[in-house]
Amino acid sequence: MADFTELYERLKEERIRLKEEFQRLKAEEKSADEQREGSPFGKREEGATEAFELEKRLALERQLADTLVEVEHALKKYESGTYGICELCGQPIEPARLEALPQAKLCLECKARQAKNARSKSTR
Ligand SMILES: [Zn+2]
Repeated sequence: MADFTELYERLKEERIRLKEEFQRLKAEEKSADEQREGSPFGKREEGATEAFELEKRLALERQLADTLVEVEHALKKYESGTYGICELCGQPIEPARLEALPQAKLCLECKARQAKNARSKSTR
């Protein structure tokens, strides 16, 4: 079996980074709330921007949470000895793919097939 120690270390660092980023977002959210309460002026004009900012922040939070789940999943796979194995076809995932995306669950072929399926579903 290939040596994934380095990728495992990268995943552990990524998990820490994601958690920090998530906390930073939450803290910003809190301070934005406090600022809003403190200023009674210009609410109407700020409304649209705020909604947009909130939307953006929520999207970012969702993305962070999703990535964190993937990273945690990859760490569990490493611990149970199945890291680097495609979850659909059971073949080893391409090393270059893991290098680019250490939390990858699928090999390139399965990923491409899945993306194609998702696309054809959404156009229907
Ligand atoms: Zn596969």
